[in-house]
Amino acid sequence: MFNTLSDRLTSTFKNLRAKGRLSEADIDATIREIRRALLDADVAVPVVREFSATVRERALSSEVSGALNPAQQVVKIVNEELVGILGGESRGLRFSKTPPTVIMLAGLQGAGKTTLAGKLALHLREQGHTPLLVAADLQRPNAVTQLSVVADRAGVPVFAPHPGNQSGVEVDDVIGDPVAVAREGVETARQRQHDVVIVDTAGRLGLDAVLMQQASDIRDAVQPDEVLFVIDAMIGQDAVATAKAFEEGVDFTGVVLTKLDGDARGGAALSVRGVTGRPILFASTGEKLTDFEAFHPDRMASRILDMGDVLTLIEQAEKAFDAEQAAKMAEKVATGQDFTLADFLVQMQQMKNMGSMKKMLGMLPGMGQMREALDNFDEREVDRIEAIIRSMTPAERDNPKIINGSRRARIARGSGVTTSDVNQLLERFAGAQKMMRQMSRGGGMPGMPGMGN
Ligand code: GDP
Repeated sequence: MFNTLSDRLTSTFKNLRAKGRLSEADIDATIREIRRALLDADVAVPVVREFSATVRERALSSEVSGALNPAQQVVKIVNEELVGILGGESRGLRFSKTPPTVIMLAGLQGAGKTTLAGKLALHLREQGHTPLLVAADLQRPNAVTQLSVVADRAGVPVFAPHPGNQSGVEVDDVIGDPVAVAREGVETARQRQHDVVIVDTAGRLGLDAVLMQQASDIRDAVQPDEVLFVIDAMIGQDAVATAKAFEEGVDFTGVVLTKLDGDARGGAALSVRGVTGRPILFASTGEKLTDFEAFHPDRMASRILDMGDVLTLIEQAEKAFDAEQAAKMAEKVATGQDFTLADFLVQMQQMKNMGSMKKMLGMLPGMGQMREALDNFDEREVDRIEAIIRSMTPAERDNPKIINGSRRARIARGSGVTTSDVNQLLERFAGAQKMMRQMSRGGGMPGMPGMGN
């Protein structure tokens, strides 16, 4: 996601860095490149226009900072403005004071609503809520069954048109009125004391009046606290028309971007907030129920500018790690204690639990430059690293400096690898250790391009 945009912005800034002082012409050339990169990433034209104008104006005005050179200043402005078009502050779900909180999902067919219903349900359940899913998508023959399947996986109940037949509802059973189903679903949630109810609605492949009317009728019937417009980040320039149609048709309170894992250009992500003024609440990043995260404009901007997204990385880590370990790690980073090979091993093992190693590594600062290496990353590598570290003595793990040539040969023999594999691991570890030191020294932005840590 955003790879091309990210690469292009980063190289634009690299060119700037070579210059000590920026002329108006330099700034204009930079703005032109930024504008082209955004347009090529399918960001909506009005959004691009406003973005470039603001960045230009700010870059030309005398926003001087003693701490930053002119190129760094431009990076800082672009970062801040990106955060702005992504929505500024992050916002979570709004819960009703009188449960159940009703969340309605709307969007085109295939946008990822049903999948999202499962993800959201799991997310809420993990936070101690007791969600009920309501299958009000009676358009697609398979939709009710599909929702029952995700509900099952998320470990939450589903209200389907035929109560008592809560899984594998037959297609023939699904006749009826989605508005009535939605209303009964919410009523059922109230009676059974579910504190949140998520209503999945039908989507069509294209925009049409019947679909909008139905969504709007469901909205009127259940009076949702949140209407989440679910949009596939890969739809490119169509994002604007679709978002506007849903804004007029049902009006929504927030946006969920799906398929942010795809390698499409991602313009929708940058346009939808600017075009509708509604905040993006969540991002969906894969087909698994756990491929889901709260959307943070600042972190996303940071990813786009290849400044890494260490916070999301740590959060994901906390979820997959055992809490005690995660706390220890955070403490180490915070206090600048040394990150040892034993920590490195624990981290590697825990990363293995976290599913895609690639996705995790992609969040590290500066990884954009290593994209190719990342794409070739072999998850089995973790097993090798583990074997190597296990062949070290505790003293060696604590202080790799003592690992001389003969120790390296012994470790290589013990773990069935070559000495050069051991060397490579030690180099990589030294790099990770250096990064940890930089993080703990603070600034919060390790590896920010041009910031020359
Ligand atoms: P709905 O028609 O809006 O309910 O969409 P679905 O939930 O059925 O999703 C349509 C397809 O997109 C399914 O194959 C999902 O597995 C897939 N999908 C949903 N969310 C994501 C995502 O974040 N990333 C990827 N790669 N696929 C997704």
